[in-house]
Amino acid sequence: MLKKLKLSHLLAFALAAIAAIMSVTIGSSWEPVTAQNQSQVQKQAQKPAEAPVQIISLQNAGLQLQEVAQGVYALIASTDLPPVPAPTIAIANGGIVIGSENVLVIDPFQSSDLAELLISTVKSLTDKPIKYVLNTHYHFDHTGGNVAFVKRGIPVIGRSVIREYIQSGKNNTAGVTPPTVIVNSQTDLWLGDRQVRIERVDGHSAGTDLVAYVPDVKVLFTGDMVFNKRIPWTGDSEIRQWQGSLYRLIATFPDAKVVPGHGDVTDVTGLQAQQAYFSWLERTALEWKAQILTKEQVLEKFAKVPDAYKDYKFKGLYPLNLESAYEQFTRSKIIPLIP
Ligand SMILES: [Zn+2]
Repeated sequence: MLKKLKLSHLLAFALAAIAAIMSVTIGSSWEPVTAQNQSQVQKQAQKPAEAPVQIISLQNAGLQLQEVAQGVYALIASTDLPPVPAPTIAIANGGIVIGSENVLVIDPFQSSDLAELLISTVKSLTDKPIKYVLNTHYHFDHTGGNVAFVKRGIPVIGRSVIREYIQSGKNNTAGVTPPTVIVNSQTDLWLGDRQVRIERVDGHSAGTDLVAYVPDVKVLFTGDMVFNKRIPWTGDSEIRQWQGSLYRLIATFPDAKVVPGHGDVTDVTGLQAQQAYFSWLERTALEWKAQILTKEQVLEKFAKVPDAYKDYKFKGLYPLNLESAYEQFTRSKIIPLIP
């Protein structure tokens, strides 16, 4: 009961924060593309005479296509938060893994517009078909584009209670099309002769986190286990589980190129930086506990993002990090290390 209360309290805070951000900063821009702004976007897309006919370009979507290894691509989103951007500007990163026979797509962004852009990007790289889509977790900025694949009959893979979360509209996922294949343990996908290993991790998204590893080129797609040079979203995270998963990823994949859920492509140093951020947050929270500070005092006294993280994006999420750290580190909350 106590845990339920705390979780519902956290969730309410997170939703209130999102609602506040959205009402102040985006108004109706989270709605589907209007005729007016669609024509603006189309005009922008039509600027180069030879541009293909599509509603948005990678550039307009704030995405950069990078070949991380032979046949393995990352689409890196550069936008900052808040405000939450329009559905045509990507918040999270996506991935493309091309095998000898077919293709895996990872995290099709937050809208069908961006998913269509992802599909056209795959077509520009290969004529092999997309065989699977992977959701690294349920959050809307990684799953909103599922609809474009499900309507084409392409399986979308997710973990555990991801369908239930999305079907209940948890954390702004109302209207998102849920995955059609559920995996709960380590799973190998074969794209012809190329293997992609899907592994379970925990801590970011209440039991739906997965990572994907391409062994032949040592590329690891971490989903939101890594926010590279960004303040992480902790709205429904268990930070101690997240720390445990980071320890395991660092030990298991010390040589990997790392494609994070948010931020630039990195390597083990990106995993270590995420780990260091949480270690710092934990140490800080234990100081609050020693000083017997209330949560309200913490939110007021420590509102400024420390200098060490002043270059990070997503600073609007920082108060939520304080809240999560207070709840999870100062109150001796008992959490299961394995959910
Ligand atoms: Zn997330």
